[in-house]
Amino acid sequence: MNDKRKLPPPLPPGSVIGMLGGGQLGRMSALAAATLGYRVHVFCPEKDAPAVQVTNRHTQAAYDDKEALAEFAEAVDVVTFEFENVPAATAKVLAAHRPVRPGPEVLHICQNRLREKDFLRGIGVPTTRFAEVSGPDALTRVVRDIGRPCVLKTAEMGYDGKGQVMIRAQTDLAQAWSEMAGGAEEAQGIVEAFVDFRLEISVIVARGQDGAVQAYVPVENQHVNHILDQTIVPARISEKAAVKAEAIARHTAEEIGLVGLLAIEMFVTADDEILVNELAPRPHNSGHWSLDACITSQFEQHIRAVAGLPLGSTDRLCDAVMKNLIGDEVERWRAILGDPASKLHLYGKAEARPGRKMGHFTRLIQKG
Ligand code: AMP
Repeated sequence: MNDKRKLPPPLPPGSVIGMLGGGQLGRMSALAAATLGYRVHVFCPEKDAPAVQVTNRHTQAAYDDKEALAEFAEAVDVVTFEFENVPAATAKVLAAHRPVRPGPEVLHICQNRLREKDFLRGIGVPTTRFAEVSGPDALTRVVRDIGRPCVLKTAEMGYDGKGQVMIRAQTDLAQAWSEMAGGAEEAQGIVEAFVDFRLEISVIVARGQDGAVQAYVPVENQHVNHILDQTIVPARISEKAAVKAEAIARHTAEEIGLVGLLAIEMFVTADDEILVNELAPRPHNSGHWSLDACITSQFEQHIRAVAGLPLGSTDRLCDAVMKNLIGDEVERWRAILGDPASKLHLYGKAEARPGRKMGHFTRLIQKG
């Protein structure tokens, strides 16, 4: 890593970055890429997706369409993604043609909560106690061992609290299992000891091709109905906890061999212990504030890392509060525009369904 001569050269302006996924994270990454002089080619099955609206290259195909994937890979210089549930076979097809950043091994770990927690345990990063469960009988055993309350989650494809069941004193385990499995005959689950956390934080960290690492300040995340509602910057935690959180993030990025961006969600307990909950190898909702309050936004940092550019400064220009606009909340856009301290970002989604992230705004809090 220290021998810079062995590194591939950075992508020159005008190069094409291939983006798997067309949501708002892809949209904001594509806008950052354009600022740096790159073109972005989006691969996603939807027609008028948020990222597609801001680029002029789009492959509209299913993620398992191998022919379309191979053609897409030939048309771009590097491949990245804005969601981690890219099928393993898809990443493999792409990696045969072009560099995929972060790499398929990072995806592999982050796609499964058990692999993720095993990995974290293996590198000495603290998590809550957990165990694998593969059926209702195993669930009875594991819950007896871990104790109630605990949380049953699907090992794969869960997000925003989906595929997650809280197991309390009276919870019927057979019912909990079928709720988690969503009617599927076979399912892999994870049981986690319930963490009585004081607050939830996240740290977003970037690692470049040269091994340089840059972290953003730990931020505090407040959820409503399992969906991120607000991010408070910086997190209201002790200096000691902040230092510990950043050290965990840097260590994880190095050990996983990251080239790109990694968001690390953590619990902070009453006695300042930090337990990692989840990893996401992409830009993250809790980093949106960086668009308006940092020298380098998480989206620009993502593109810099993927393109082999030097990472930018993560220095914070001011404190901030980011609020998601979920469903009907998007109607507030006019009032938000009237607030001189707020910056509005809308994602171009036509229909404001309940629970759908339509946009966000960041209120900047000037120091002093
Ligand atoms: P996740 O899908 O793992 O990000 O979980 C969604 C939310 O559920 C988290 O942000 C927490 O608020 C809560 N949660 C998840 N796991 C646990 C746990 N082991 N103990 C307590 N709360 C949890």
